[in-house]
Amino acid sequence: MPGFEMFDQKEIDAVVDVLQRKMVHRYSFNNVRNHIWKVEEFEKAVAEKMGVSYCLGVSSGSAALYVALRAMGIGPGDEVITSPFTFIASVEAILECGAVPVLADIDESLNLSPGKAENCITEATKAIMPVQMFGASADMEAFEELCENYGLYLFEDSCQAMGATYKGKPVGTFGKWGTYSLDPYKVITTGEGGLILTDDEELYKKMEYYHDHGHIHNKDIDRGAEGKACLGFNFRMSEIQGALGLAQLGKLDMAVEQLRRNRKAITEMVGSIEGLTMRPLADPEGDMASQLVYLFPTERSARIFQETLKESGVGCGVLADNTWHYARHWETLREGSYYSRIRYPWDCAYTEEMPLYRPVEWEATHDILSRAAVFGMTYAMSEEQLENMATAIKVGARSAL
Ligand SMILES: *Cc1c(COP(=O)(O)O)cnc(C)c1O
Repeated sequence: MPGFEMFDQKEIDAVVDVLQRKMVHRYSFNNVRNHIWKVEEFEKAVAEKMGVSYCLGVSSGSAALYVALRAMGIGPGDEVITSPFTFIASVEAILECGAVPVLADIDESLNLSPGKAENCITEATKAIMPVQMFGASADMEAFEELCENYGLYLFEDSCQAMGATYKGKPVGTFGKWGTYSLDPYKVITTGEGGLILTDDEELYKKMEYYHDHGHIHNKDIDRGAEGKACLGFNFRMSEIQGALGLAQLGKLDMAVEQLRRNRKAITEMVGSIEGLTMRPLADPEGDMASQLVYLFPTERSARIFQETLKESGVGCGVLADNTWHYARHWETLREGSYYSRIRYPWDCAYTEEMPLYRPVEWEATHDILSRAAVFGMTYAMSEEQLENMATAIKVGARSAL
């Protein structure tokens, strides 16, 4: 994946331009900036590309989730159902709001299972937030229906799937809001950064106020004279990030095309091997191919595969070992490790009836992740690298299956 691999003169010029103009604030300095607003330009370009009405740039993907949850009023007494296989930020964003994350099992697509999510719905549930893991969409039609039936909000943590689609529509555009991360591991990057997409004008305004101390932005008056809509915080994106984002956005389609081309080349060279399967997806066409995941029949076969590959110098991970993306490894969540004396939601009166780790064991998730071997894909791979990977996979599969 990483977007920084695509950095060239375009990104350098974009950043230098901002520095030369000395105009790094996304708001303010209205009289001296010659009507140049890089973050705004970036937001509009993303909104147009993805086909939504509004996009807000923020300081990170984590901030995007947090700002979007806060603007929806998610707080103490609320439960949000999400996945135990996600980057920990999805869960932290819910906790930072004082709400309870409820982690339902995934299915073999590695995304949240609609059926398992349904089983976790209680009186306190406010929203379901599927995570578009490894650049491929969850079953959004099923989640839309589920949320409609139970009167819940649908949110999308699409932080790692900018460029993926579900039935032709970009991920991030399905629920009340969706998010993209622009951190250094993602397909395009601004160093750090995040984006929130929505079609809801009122919600967009709330997010826009909240992410900048409640400022009611008005280009016609001095920033210091602007009114206050609410208490907020600072999650602003800078003009440097905005300019970098614009340069990177122009390369997104090419990056996704290359990822898909590379992965296809490998899977074609590997061919069909009995017992070796790709994860079944809700919409395989929309997968941006940022990872290559194979599912094995048993944990034992996945481990033999991993060992054999280690010998051939091509490494692969077994997903159950992933300490930052699999909730089983989050002792900090289990223990409520915060620095404050009172820890929300752990010590919150509303939470007494809401076990934080429900359901405590994710049997289906564990079974799947123990059998899943993953390779990270990069957009730039030589023919030789592709061939080496394919050969290693074939050799590994031969000894494992
Ligand atoms: C990367 C990521 C985030 C957080 O994004 P940052 O920009 O690193 O804060 C959240 N959720 C998922 C699924 C991610 O992959």
